[in-house]
Amino acid sequence: MPVLLLVDAARTGAGATDPDDRIRVVRADAPHVQVLDLGVTRGDGVFESFGVVDGAVQALEPHLARLGRSLAMLDLPELDLDVLRTAVLRSVELHEPRPELLCKLVVTRGVEGSGVPTAWVYTDPGADFSRERRDGIAVVTLDRGLRHDVARTSPWLLQGAKTLSYAVNKAALREAARRGAQDVLFVSSDGHVLEGPTSTLVARYGRTVVTPATDQGILAGTTQAAAFDWFAAEGFDVAERVLLTDELAGADALWLLSSGRQAAPLRALDGRALVVDAETTTGLLRHLLGRRE
Ligand code: PLP
Repeated sequence: MPVLLLVDAARTGAGATDPDDRIRVVRADAPHVQVLDLGVTRGDGVFESFGVVDGAVQALEPHLARLGRSLAMLDLPELDLDVLRTAVLRSVELHEPRPELLCKLVVTRGVEGSGVPTAWVYTDPGADFSRERRDGIAVVTLDRGLRHDVARTSPWLLQGAKTLSYAVNKAALREAARRGAQDVLFVSSDGHVLEGPTSTLVARYGRTVVTPATDQGILAGTTQAAAFDWFAAEGFDVAERVLLTDELAGADALWLLSSGRQAAPLRALDGRALVVDAETTTGLLRHLLGRRE
């Protein structure tokens, strides 16, 4: 029976002290969230998806730190990360062991008028990404319709927060499917490379590896950070900088990185075939899947 952990994600410093006392294990197939929860009625909330390999939650602290930043961007209360951390670890422990799992932590603004966030954690087996990791993915660029400086000029658009409102991201993936591709690379209206709907772009130019700078209204990828550790250890120069769409054509290899799929090389971009850098992909995936924290 799949289980769900309902978390009393009380504000920092409030109430009971033992994190275990603030977690309730319930059946995942029973109703729990109220119809007036603002996460349901407005998509008003934030989430994190944690990759789990051989029972180990990857990048736990970077994910929790990013959740904290998302909460702050939405003016949601600062939550007790000890409780959330405990819930994530228990949720993974309660799942039957698998080589790979995905754990999802959701925090909503709560039931309308209550002022109390709703939070839950759920772990499931996720999808099988072995083919995409090996053979690569066809990707299309789509204009996000926002300038690269949107986070500074219009912070209320919440670009760069991991909000629950992923309907747009999912619509973009359906558009990719209509164009015969499996994934999307968002670009800004003024020609900057941004990110995928659920992933971070990494590009290799010779011995230099680049990812778009995160001050452009995009998420700081935990998988990209781990990948850069590996690239640096392998002697590559790594850089987080502005990457213009015109520069994509000159890349020697491109990847989309994310917690579940880890690394998928691009085998086509906007219908143009790309060479999959199999050797680098193999080393990168070995590192990413070998992480035990
Ligand atoms: N960018 C967006 C918009 C995402 O939703 C995600 C992950 O879900 C990422 C990037 C990649 O982040 P991570 O590697 O931490 O999973």
